[in-house]
Amino acid sequence: MSKTLLYNAFGINSKYDYLKTDYEKGNVIFVIKKPIYNCQCSSCSSDRVKHRGSVTRVIRTLPIGKRSTFIKVILNRLECKNCGIIRQEKIDFAEPNKSYTRLFERYVLELSRAMTILDVASLLGVSWHVIKDIQQRYLGKKYSKPPVKGLRHIAIDEISIRKGHRYLTVVMDLDSGIIVYVGDGKGSDSLIPFWKRIRRFKKNIEAVAIDMSVSYVSAVQNNLPDAKLIIDHFHVIKLFQDKLSSLRTSLQSALKGTCEYDILKGTRWLLLKNPQNLNEKKNEKQKLEEALLINKPLATAYYMKEDLRQLWSQENKEKAIEFLKDWLKRAKASGIQMLMKFANTLAAYRTGILAYYDHKISTGPLEGTNNKIKVLKRNAYGFRDMGFFKLKIYALHEAKFRLVG
Ligand SMILES: [Zn+2]
Repeated sequence: MSKTLLYNAFGINSKYDYLKTDYEKGNVIFVIKKPIYNCQCSSCSSDRVKHRGSVTRVIRTLPIGKRSTFIKVILNRLECKNCGIIRQEKIDFAEPNKSYTRLFERYVLELSRAMTILDVASLLGVSWHVIKDIQQRYLGKKYSKPPVKGLRHIAIDEISIRKGHRYLTVVMDLDSGIIVYVGDGKGSDSLIPFWKRIRRFKKNIEAVAIDMSVSYVSAVQNNLPDAKLIIDHFHVIKLFQDKLSSLRTSLQSALKGTCEYDILKGTRWLLLKNPQNLNEKKNEKQKLEEALLINKPLATAYYMKEDLRQLWSQENKEKAIEFLKDWLKRAKASGIQMLMKFANTLAAYRTGILAYYDHKISTGPLEGTNNKIKVLKRNAYGFRDMGFFKLKIYALHEAKFRLVG
């Protein structure tokens, strides 16, 4: 065993002397020591130091094949003539108080790009917590302060991380695709720390995409009075679909015991599908048409939904204004309660819906990230540590770490 190998393969400074190699319980242990003439005071760096005993520390480093490998370092206790104090010699290949070398940390981070925490832990023969700690410190250094300076277009949305129990409010920079904020809970309170963080940069924000939620709308209006508010069109259609589903359910239960009931049954998904996505082989188009034929209110609501989609593909804002006006008129004249109610909701959010023609943004990109967050959550037991979970979310756009574990 030579110093050069220790230096080149294990990053051990050549100031250390190699003493011997021990083999214990299948582990490899290199014993090293810095001679006194290579030692300096750990506080003032003076080399006027005297040996005052020693202590031993064992530090994990890169494995050799499948064998766990350790550096056993005999550390001098040094009396500094300058400081007049006895201190322990500093270790220069590991962070203070860590039981592994910096090289080991880097190796863990490399492996983490392709493996789960659990996989890395079992491969290296350490606990899950060691790997998690290494990841957390790295992520903390890199991502604890997401960039908010250049924000111009943002999207805000909530995601449910435990069904109906726990929510996170997420803000995305739509120009870079970076998640710039993750807040606990939903509604305006969950955004308070975000407004504080962007205080100095608020003026740059031109437009915000959100869904039709009163609390987000007022939070944005209060905190970004100059920004345009865009009601996300996916959320509008989604809400309409929910209402359409309940309409079908109530119409269907009113028909119980008749043959119309059977025709309506099982059409829920067909009603929500884009007409061009209906499956020919499964006769979906025909089934849907039959259902619509026997039930006029359902048919009206269905065609109104398909029609509403056109609102976002008008030539310009003027045409869109006309289109919406006409749609609302027809909805109100339909006599169908669900449509009339929905028309009122749309009318209330009219400005935000039409603002799409000023800034064509949506919460769509955030939706994709939300799915990734859900995968992250589902596969990662141990995310009771919210701080770690949030760091992982901030790092999502880099995709350096696997989404699992
Ligand atoms: Zn000193």
